Amino acid sequence: MTQSQAIRKQLIVFDFDWSLTDQDTDRYVLEVNAPDLRRKMKDLGSEVQWTDLVTQSLEELHKRGVTREQIEHSLKIMPFHPAMIRVVSAVKAAESPITSFICLSNANSVFIETILKDKGLESLFDEIITNPAEWDPSGLLKLRRRIDPNGPQHNCEVGCNANMCKGAELTSFLKRSDQTSFDRVIYVGDGSNDYCPVLRLRSQDIVLCRRYRGLEQKIIKQGGLKCQVIYWAGAWEVEEILNKL
Ligand SMILES: [Mg+2]
Ligand SMILES: [Zn+2]
Repeated sequence: MTQSQAIRKQLIVFDFDWSLTDQDTDRYVLEVNAPDLRRKMKDLGSEVQWTDLVTQSLEELHKRGVTREQIEHSLKIMPFHPAMIRVVSAVKAAESPITSFICLSNANSVFIETILKDKGLESLFDEIITNPAEWDPSGLLKLRRRIDPNGPQHNCEVGCNANMCKGAELTSFLKRSDQTSFDRVIYVGDGSNDYCPVLRLRSQDIVLCRRYRGLEQKIIKQGGLKCQVIYWAGAWEVEEILNKL
């Protein structure tokens, strides 16, 4: 790419589930520890707000005696491609361009940090923007929505689900970090909730869109993107793409 000479400073934004990783944390933890709750989650998915549903499932796991160690173990064995570890480590270590990483995820801080630490990536991200969670002393993982359900909600008109508008989160990150300082933004995502932030990218920015999932469908059906789109299916292709950019 000839434009790469002009890129001194770039931002790479990663969605977490099915983007940095090869699975979905909320679902996988239940698939490993309580498949009946995984089924219940699928059945109730359209009625109960997603983060509330995960919160309830974690409470039920705790009631059944599933321990913190068991939950952490399931996160550590969750599929995570070695090519992804290689490429983000290499891009972060490179002197040119200088790359900052942030994570935008509707999972939660504990799931994400547990996995990053296990993969030696705990210092990858400057910011992890997600739902807050913490272990209480009894081993219950207490999870809360990022946006307090009793306070003002986001006012996204693109169609983001309740609790998180990743577009608004990206805009607010760029504002507080001085938007003009990034010559290029690269967004790696797969889900329909990655569409809103991707719509806000500029012509010099790039989305790395995972194939066969919600984001690809939205891009095809609704379009409207100003940024360049590069499709991928396996993490080894993200490695190839980022090494060339
Ligand atoms: Mg995702
Ligand atoms: Zn939105």
